[in-house]
Amino acid sequence: MTPSVPLTPGPLSPIPLSRPPIDDEIKQAVLAAIDSRQYILGPQCRNLEAELATHTGTEHAVLTSSATAGLWMIFKALGVKPGDEILVPSHTAFPTVEAICFAGGTPVFVDADDWYTLDPKDAAAKVTARAVGVVPVHLYGQPVDLPAVQDLAARFGLWVVEDCAQAQGAAWDGRRVGTFGRAAAFSFYPSKNLPAMGDGGAVLTNDDELGARCRRLRDHGRLSKDVHAEVGFNLRFSELQAAALRVLLRRLDAMNDRRRALAARYAEGLAGLPLALPAEREHARHVYHLYVVRTPRRDALAAFLGARGIQTGLHYPVPTHRQPAVARFNPPVLPRTERLVQEILTLPMSANHTDGEIDTVVAAVRKFFGA
Ligand SMILES: *Cc1c(COP(=O)(O)O)cnc(C)c1O
Repeated sequence: MTPSVPLTPGPLSPIPLSRPPIDDEIKQAVLAAIDSRQYILGPQCRNLEAELATHTGTEHAVLTSSATAGLWMIFKALGVKPGDEILVPSHTAFPTVEAICFAGGTPVFVDADDWYTLDPKDAAAKVTARAVGVVPVHLYGQPVDLPAVQDLAARFGLWVVEDCAQAQGAAWDGRRVGTFGRAAAFSFYPSKNLPAMGDGGAVLTNDDELGARCRRLRDHGRLSKDVHAEVGFNLRFSELQAAALRVLLRRLDAMNDRRRALAARYAEGLAGLPLALPAEREHARHVYHLYVVRTPRRDALAAFLGARGIQTGLHYPVPTHRQPAVARFNPPVLPRTERLVQEILTLPMSANHTDGEIDTVVAAVRKFFGA
């Protein structure tokens, strides 16, 4: 493997939030796909679908243009109609909520628990007669309390759709996320755990009918070449991207192990500071899509690190229930979410960061706190 990006940047090189993998094996796979002269939903896509299903432990995988598209197709396939209420954590990427709205549903915003994920107790308190489903989001790579979500769903007769965009490869009691509900959406956005060189996503499900319906929706509602059973859209996937992803899927568990090792390095280096560190909840295999710390001095810490060439992020500073786009739903006040979004800070993390880079970030954070 010959990395095109130096793996050992000099002392003054900026440290990016995320560094996508690029090497000769990936480039060769893409070049071979170019030579195949098949560019959309060809053999690379079909093989990747089979490999994704096997890796996750589902019957079906349907590649699509993004996780947003995948969520939308799932909600359409589940028959979401205007007035249907869907429980969703406010503390998520806006696309989770957007897909609910785009499918015609009403988002019911739920507060966060101690792990920044959907609080099942708050969700239960918000169920009405119009509720049809719940969307747990495995935020930052940490699985939601899945048994609690399944209990909630069983108690109120709701379906479960997992948003796994940040948690590809994560597991609960050894079982992969994406297998706990009717269907799940995954993202291949370039900073996600299984990164493409552009947009991409997938729907995974054990439900034959739902899988077939999503397959149809992503390709203009086609039943066959010339027959359109319903109005779908063009949400297809590229052979070039699939070829690259097949290489990376074989490395996914190792890349997630690397993220976990870097998270452990951070935890050791940052121990003892007045800084809340991410913790892995019991039963969970956390895959650290993002390494998010928490302090009331967040803005000052971000500026301090930025001045030293260390990139940080905010995921997410404006909670989805406070977005102008959803004001018409009269969202409730969510005290825990509203407080945490003012204190969270994302530190550099990806499978391609070096130990030395993490040590540089640790040293800078310690210096900020005068330690
Ligand atoms: C990235 C992300 C999405 C959207 O994924 P795209 O592939 O960019 O559409 C949805 N939900 C969460 C939690 C995400 O992090």
